[in-house]
Amino acid sequence: MRFRVAVLPGDGIGPEVIAQATRVLAAAGRRFGHEFQLREGLIGGIAYDATGHPLPQATLDLCRSSDAVLLGAVGGPKWDKLPVHLRPEAGALLPLRKALDVYANLRPAVVFPALADASTLKREVVEGLDILVVRELTGGLYFGEKRREEIPGGQRAVDTMVYTTEEIRRVARRAFELARTRKKKLTSVDKANVLESSRLWREVVTELAKDYPDVELNHMLVDNCAMQLVRNPKQFDVILTENLFGDILSDQAAQLVGSLGMLPSASLGDGVGLYEPVHGSAPDIAGRQLANPIAAILSVALMLRYSFGLEEAALAVERAVAAVLEEGYRTADIMEPGRKQVGTTEMGRLIAEKVEKAA
Ligand code: NAD
Repeated sequence: MRFRVAVLPGDGIGPEVIAQATRVLAAAGRRFGHEFQLREGLIGGIAYDATGHPLPQATLDLCRSSDAVLLGAVGGPKWDKLPVHLRPEAGALLPLRKALDVYANLRPAVVFPALADASTLKREVVEGLDILVVRELTGGLYFGEKRREEIPGGQRAVDTMVYTTEEIRRVARRAFELARTRKKKLTSVDKANVLESSRLWREVVTELAKDYPDVELNHMLVDNCAMQLVRNPKQFDVILTENLFGDILSDQAAQLVGSLGMLPSASLGDGVGLYEPVHGSAPDIAGRQLANPIAAILSVALMLRYSFGLEEAALAVERAVAAVLEEGYRTADIMEPGRKQVGTTEMGRLIAEKVEKAA
């Protein structure tokens, strides 16, 4: 089969990790007989320098005419002083997500057996961990009305958390469907004891559960969930939550895994999917072969699975990552005594080789 992928490397370590991710994608294509047509676009600071905007129209057009988008990372000190709407993150990432209407952000947190000691938590707490946080991405507090008012003695700042039934239903449906392909356990997280939007959230999710009798649903308050994630994270399978809570909980779940360099993400709507490592552009290590490309490579696995339905190829990539780690290869961020340290390119090469050659 043939697929068109928009590739947006971005800034800092973005191009370094994306080069390895596309190398692994090409290897998967050769092994399984698929053709991935890669078309590059500009995004972030590099796009601002070239065109005056961090998300040029040409990039948006490229993304909309592709089957999936693979994004590196954006930003860096050079562009921090620009007006907010021209800064790489605010001016490119949020508008791109909105333009593609990717309302469900998937963040798997999987502890590879070889890395069970890399987490700050005890081995027995995280060993074998495999959870998926599904975060609503285009609504809630981040997109509700904001304003500032002058009041006697200072100012008043207002942010608004808004959700409609349909916004909740579509992301919840996605989470139920995903739970069905896993351990069939869904935890919906809210703050229904305090927030009206959370009460609506809980009602809609409860109603929808009738369509998924094979999935076990439970509700949890967000403060309890934060505690349970460090106390006993293996109790969870799929966690579904709104934008702000998901932002915080997915970072917390990520930390269970050990390094930012290991964390992929997928953002899905009803059209083109967006795949990117969770980490940023890491200007402190850019250009030094220190970046771990595994987060970007695992994002390719998610693309194969969720946008292209190529489960076998997705598993081959994930197994190749596990095998290379098992053989003791490590980038600097996950290095442990007695292991073999390799650079960004070499890690990508080792994984691509395994993807292509594995029986
Ligand atoms: P960061 O994720 O870039 O880096 C945080 C720390 O983790 C750094 O010490 C970095 O060296 C390390 N790190 C990150 N990715 C790594 C990898 N693959 N391998 C090894 N180590 C890795 O976050 P930051 O330093 O807060 O932000 C740097 C820039 O990135 C800023 O301009 C920020 O706005 C931007 N940013 C972009 C995104 C995105 O594009 N999605 C996300 C977060 C931050």
